[in-house]
Formats: sequence, structure tokens, C-alpha cells
Amino acid sequence: MIGDGSGRPSSRRCKPIVGALLIIGLSFSLSAQERVRSIFEALAQSKTVMYIGAHPDDENSIAAFLARSVGAGKKTYIVCFTRGENEPMDVGVPKGRPMAEARMRWLRDAAAILGAEPIQLPYTDGPSSVEELERGVIRYWRRTTSLREVIAHWRTADRDPYEDMIRLIREKKPDLLLTWEKTRGWTGNAEHRTVGWLAERAFLEAANPDVFPHHLRKGLSPWQPRWLYWVLRGDEDVSGHPIEVIGCEAPGPGGRTACEVKAAVLVSYRRHTLRTATPEELVEMERQAVTWVRAHPEHVQLALEHPAHRE
Ligand SMILES: [Zn+2]
Repeated sequence: MIGDGSGRPSSRRCKPIVGALLIIGLSFSLSAQERVRSIFEALAQSKTVMYIGAHPDDENSIAAFLARSVGAGKKTYIVCFTRGENEPMDVGVPKGRPMAEARMRWLRDAAAILGAEPIQLPYTDGPSSVEELERGVIRYWRRTTSLREVIAHWRTADRDPYEDMIRLIREKKPDLLLTWEKTRGWTGNAEHRTVGWLAERAFLEAANPDVFPHHLRKGLSPWQPRWLYWVLRGDEDVSGHPIEVIGCEAPGPGGRTACEVKAAVLVSYRRHTLRTATPEELVEMERQAVTWVRAHPEHVQLALEHPAHRE
């Protein structure tokens, strides 16, 4: 799958402190989250849906559900925390600012296909600075990288990723939040896990007026999203947890099915990552992508786990 961090050396497990926070988070989530029979019931009751990812193109993992959300008339946001400067694939673009520009374009194009609104945050992809990447000093997060390391790397005197997460929720007022599960993060990528953890914590605290109270003085209001769902791969071992799958043939935007929209998003990335492709080749690529998506339900019929069910 394009650009989900595949191949990056990164951790699938968290350090003990994160495990402790997991327990705290889940105990709060039980009170913060309303019971529904399925994510589709939650979607039906939502006006606004927000997906939160780490890199431009992460949204492809959830594109079929986002297509279904837009198709159902929901205001749908795609939030991306990093600009993707450290893309591991050779796509013919130098790492650093040129790569960031290219990948942010991937996100904008995917959002346009989906009919969703992209929100790009300015954090750096990977532990190297932009300047280091442009000098060829390329590092990736270790398998043992903790969420705290990533957050400390992102935090600056002017910017705090957790405050950004809280502000986004207060500004956009999503009813339904979707993000990576914080211990698995799809590929185990440290930044996937980090945004999952930040989003879950923000889900629990955005309604608390004592958290970043200066937001209220600037006109924002506390906001409690009604549901938080984790995005898991359909082939992950999630035994014991309720799983829901996204119907491939569900209606998406523009009269297309969820699968067809997902395929269009995948082809859009390939348009950027292939050095050359004619319009005819792209049409054929999209036809093949629809066939591929239908044949690989683990990549389109995502498992979505309801955190409040996890006890
Ligand atoms: Zn990613």
C-alpha cells in the first residue's frame, strides 16, 4: 500500500507508560462515548466526520468509509499532521521541502476526489529536520520510538501538537472521530501511533474548559465528539473485539460506489508517484484498481473497533 510507512523501521509496541495511559483513556472513554449498534448508526447520527492521520496519503486506508460519509451528506474532514517530507519511496522527488509539496498535493487531490475538506498541519515527517533531509541526513523512527519522543520532536516554542488536536475539535466540532489505533497504528509507524494517542486523549478532554482555557477567551467552545473509532486493518489480529466492515458497494459521492472512489484515490497517488503515464494509461489503471480493491477486502473493508467495547 502506498506510503503508509511500510518498510520504515518502527515500533509496534509501546513502552509501559503508554500502556498505563491506555487504561486511563479507556475508562474515560466509557463515559464520553455513546453506545451505538454500529459505526453506520453513528455515521447516520453525525453531521460532521473527522479522520485524523499522520502523513499525506494515510487517508487512503479509510477512503472507502470517507466516501460513504461524503455520499451520505456528512461534512467530512481529513486532518494530516505531517507534510510527509521523509517519504521512503523513491518517487523522483528530493526529500525535504520538494517532497512535502508533492505529498501535500497528494492529500489535496485525494480530498477533492472524496469531496472532503483537507486540513494540513505543519509537523515534520520522521526524526530528521527538513534541513537535514535536504542535506541527505535521513533517519527513521526506531521500532522502540515512544510516543513521547515523537511529541517532543514535534513540539516547539510556538506549536504544540496536542493543543492543535484540541483546537481542531473545538473549531470543527466533529461528531464522529476516526484515527489510528495507538498501539498498532496500521504499520506500527510511530507517527501513526502518536496521532492516534493524541486524538484519543483529545476526544476525552476537548469538552473540558480547563484544558487550554485560552481557547475559550478566543471564542472557541468546549466540544465533545460523540464517537471515536480506531482504524484497523481487516487482516489484523483483533480477536475478541467487535469488527465492522465497510461495504464496497455502498454509495459514495458523485454516484460512484465506495470502492470506485477508493480506487480513484489510489490511482491519484500513482499519478503523482509514476514518472510518466498517459491519460489512457491512467483510465486503465483506475479500471484495474477497482478490480484490485474488490479482490482485496482487507484493504478496503476496514476493521473499525469501538474503543468503548474493549473491556
Ligand atoms: Zn502514514
